[in-house]
Amino acid sequence: MASLIPQHFIDDLLTRIDIVDIVDSSVTLKKAGRDFKACCPFHDEKTPSFTVSQNKQFYHCFGCGAHGTAISFLMDYSGLDFIEAVEELASRAGVEVPREQGDFSKTKDNSELYELMELVVRHFCRQLRESPEAHRAVDYLKQRGLSGELAKEFELGFAPPGWDILLNTLGTSDAAKQRLTQIGMILEKDNGDHYDRFRDRIIFPIRDQRGRAIGFGGRVFDDSLPKYLNSPETPIFHKGRELYGLFQARHQLKDMERIYIVEGYMDVLALAQHGIRNVVASLGTAVTENHLERLFRVCPQIIICFDGDNAGQKAAWRSMEIALPLLKEGRQIHFMFMPEGDDPDTYVHRHGRGKFEDMNNYVPLSNYLIDKFKRETNLDSREGLAQLAEGIMPLVGVLPAGALQELLLNDISKLTGISIDSLRKLIDRKKPTVKSTKAQHLVSTHQPNKEHNPLIANAISFLLQNPELGMSIEADALSEIDTQGVEFLRELLALVHEQPEISCAGILEHWRDSKYEKRLKELSIKDNLLTEPDDIQKKFLEIIEKIKCDHEQQLRDARIQGIQNLDDLRNLHSTPATNSEE
Ligand SMILES: [Zn+2]
Repeated sequence: MASLIPQHFIDDLLTRIDIVDIVDSSVTLKKAGRDFKACCPFHDEKTPSFTVSQNKQFYHCFGCGAHGTAISFLMDYSGLDFIEAVEELASRAGVEVPREQGDFSKTKDNSELYELMELVVRHFCRQLRESPEAHRAVDYLKQRGLSGELAKEFELGFAPPGWDILLNTLGTSDAAKQRLTQIGMILEKDNGDHYDRFRDRIIFPIRDQRGRAIGFGGRVFDDSLPKYLNSPETPIFHKGRELYGLFQARHQLKDMERIYIVEGYMDVLALAQHGIRNVVASLGTAVTENHLERLFRVCPQIIICFDGDNAGQKAAWRSMEIALPLLKEGRQIHFMFMPEGDDPDTYVHRHGRGKFEDMNNYVPLSNYLIDKFKRETNLDSREGLAQLAEGIMPLVGVLPAGALQELLLNDISKLTGISIDSLRKLIDRKKPTVKSTKAQHLVSTHQPNKEHNPLIANAISFLLQNPELGMSIEADALSEIDTQGVEFLRELLALVHEQPEISCAGILEHWRDSKYEKRLKELSIKDNLLTEPDDIQKKFLEIIEKIKCDHEQQLRDARIQGIQNLDDLRNLHSTPATNSEE
């Protein structure tokens, strides 16, 4: 959550870094007038319409509309989440991210844990080369067809049999033991002794998106149980968030058209061995919302592989429910069901890469949804059709409004003979589920119903794009005005007076994840058709004057109509109730 990092830190951080450097390290920029340009990294183009403004500290693409701050760039281009993006910027600026209360997942001491993890990775790799028992692991990898190169790239390792090999290598002091326990590598017995968690297993180090080792998976060589063992949840390892192989995939492939989610480490490796590098594995957990959001930041199409058995079907259904609300425009999810008895590893060995990558093998999520309902209802009776409509519509209702939802409505209407309007009513009737009310809430907060006054929108956009303008008027210049929407302008003015150095990007970050975010972004790229700095200030002052005049005019009108309270006047003049949610 954004709120766990103090806002003032983010404000300050954005004044320390330069978005031009941040973007330029991924996309080569060329100076063009006051701005910098490049071919857009977010859509295909031949002539550059991607612009980075040093002045405003944000980027905007005139081709596809992508825009944002340095933080957004790291999130959208590098696929980091908000906290990771802030951490990345902080490390580039050479500052430490302070934390507000309530965040247990990351403390600033974690750098020690990450360093220790690297030592553990090296320990297991060395064991694979040097341990007298390692031949079993090497034989196993060879027999599965993995090359030494791939084993090296994925840093595969070996935990020899024995209870204290890692312990004796890296756990030589009490402090070291304590840290090894913290990262889940050793366990403590009742008598206070410790022992290695991973024994007699092949080891798969798990790296996060920034390449830091965060956990391990271990697999046995025979049929003993458990077949797979993972690191437990630790301060740096959260299974529901991480995906095995994502770091390597992104390292290998600059652009991914699609990405596969498979179940196991060996599936990722087997597919990589066959040249399919856009593959990640969920870490023994079902696919989570977090996983999908993370992958959608990297590419628009996700293919989830499931076993063909009953468990696979159940997992597919769960994944569909999780995925539905995430399917915004341009995003796609397909399912791939393995034939009974196969997993991606055995499948690709048997059928090869071409067959695995054949789109005909994939079921689009919407087909899966409809087909499942069709299979499970009797379509020859009205009762069956009604049952289908009532069952499926709440799910369709969870989809973000858009083309996919419309197409589904159309199909279901044709299938059942119920009109689209009536089907929509079924959505509304079933609405009060958690997910759909959440979706509704998002829609309603996106309406810019706070500010109907174009004059105020103008003032906000001027101030946002040129925060220094704020200093040309008093911080309390608008304190007497209570025109609708002005409270936000006042807040913005106060912020600029408090932090005269703040950039446009800084202001945008200030209202990230708030109901103002979307509208602010729109206003930040609004073309004010002015280039001369002198004119900008003049125009801004004119707008402020006009706001004041209008307000006085309103007061006079009110007096004439004998209305004391301006609110009453406003109510007379239409405007819908303001959105009071915060
Ligand atoms: Zn673009």
